[in-house]
Amino acid sequence: MESFRFVLSAQEVVFRQSALEELGEIVQQHGWDRIMLCTSPHYVRNGIVGRIAQQLDERLVAPYTGVQPHVQAVQLDEAVALAVEHDVNCIIGLGGGSALGMAKAVIRELEARLSGKSIAETAGTNLGELIPLIAIPTTYAGSEMTSVYGVTRREADGLLSKKVVRDSRIAPRVIIYDPELTFDLPQELTATTAINALAHCIEAIYSRTRNPISTSAALQGVRYIHSFLFRCITNGNDLEARTGLMIGAHLGGVALSTVEMGLHHGICHVLGGSANVPHGVANCIVLPHVMRFNLDVYAAELSLVAGAMGVSSNDTVQEIAKKGIDRIYELISNLGVPQRLREVDVPEATLPLLAEAMRKNHTVNSNPKLFQNDKEALDFLRVIW
Ligand code: NAD
Repeated sequence: MESFRFVLSAQEVVFRQSALEELGEIVQQHGWDRIMLCTSPHYVRNGIVGRIAQQLDERLVAPYTGVQPHVQAVQLDEAVALAVEHDVNCIIGLGGGSALGMAKAVIRELEARLSGKSIAETAGTNLGELIPLIAIPTTYAGSEMTSVYGVTRREADGLLSKKVVRDSRIAPRVIIYDPELTFDLPQELTATTAINALAHCIEAIYSRTRNPISTSAALQGVRYIHSFLFRCITNGNDLEARTGLMIGAHLGGVALSTVEMGLHHGICHVLGGSANVPHGVANCIVLPHVMRFNLDVYAAELSLVAGAMGVSSNDTVQEIAKKGIDRIYELISNLGVPQRLREVDVPEATLPLLAEAMRKNHTVNSNPKLFQNDKEALDFLRVIW
């Protein structure tokens, strides 16, 4: 008999054209009046921070607008100090997964530091409610729906590593989806973050903790992403296509938020944290190869992915799944994004270290099929190098 267990967070999702205009009213309703904003420099330049400042007036007490990719530990210290200084009671994350991750990290760190303990010491202990987070995503990475974030730091051995923190209380309380905020998302980021969303759907479909909600959301997410991605690449201002792709990313986020990811996400975290490969780019390089790796154990699930992309045939489940994988490889090839690690300057000499990090990675080890030994992990990396 099938069984499942998952946590659903209480979240308010606002999805509409020009939804950003509702921000002032939302914080008013909740009574949040000492607000921090975590975002990247791009949003100062394109005027969105100005629009937010106008709506929030004196309630915006702590703008932190320097977020760099992958939530860097040194920046987290700066942002937490700013939050403490202004005694904030709400944080807004505006941007891609990095800005949203920084907002989550500040919230969790604030709790730990105010209690005089480390994140590790407070893990799993229920210390009560956290400061609320409003997420305003501008890429398709899906972090707005989840209760997970990663922080990148340089370890004593000189290597960079990304540590993931999971805490169901960290899930954003309000999510504002405004497709117009993605009009200026460049082609490459549109493509790579949409493939990240597609990967959430695919890994959810064969996840060992999959459930009826995650599978339904993921299959519908594949349909939306497959239908609208190219239109967004051809014309970034196509509102209908941007809306469709954002719905696909939202569905991918819903699926992601209730299941464990597997090999694909584990490898992407290692490539991001240890080799500084942008997350979406890592997704484009890795996805079809992981699907092939998992084919012999999850052909039936992968054939559902193929079906959601319109692959119809009388073949065996295995053959349908293979056609789906080919379709995804072709989709990624047509996007003109990197498909090899060498194209993003990962030195060949670092592959053994990356393989070792992969073998130790929790998410890699949550995959339904495991690498049998270090050599198999290294061989996998050599293929994608
Ligand atoms: P990102 O947040 O790292 O952003 C990449 C760049 O895109 C930044 O320079 C940013 O300023 C720019 N950018 C974002 N939106 C833009 C827009 N509309 N127009 C122009 N430029 C824009 O990229 P990402 O792929 O969204 O996020 C990746 C990070 O998020 C990784 O660290 C990844 O591990 C994490 N992530 C976390 C989750 C989760 O559930 N916690 C899910 C997905 C990704």
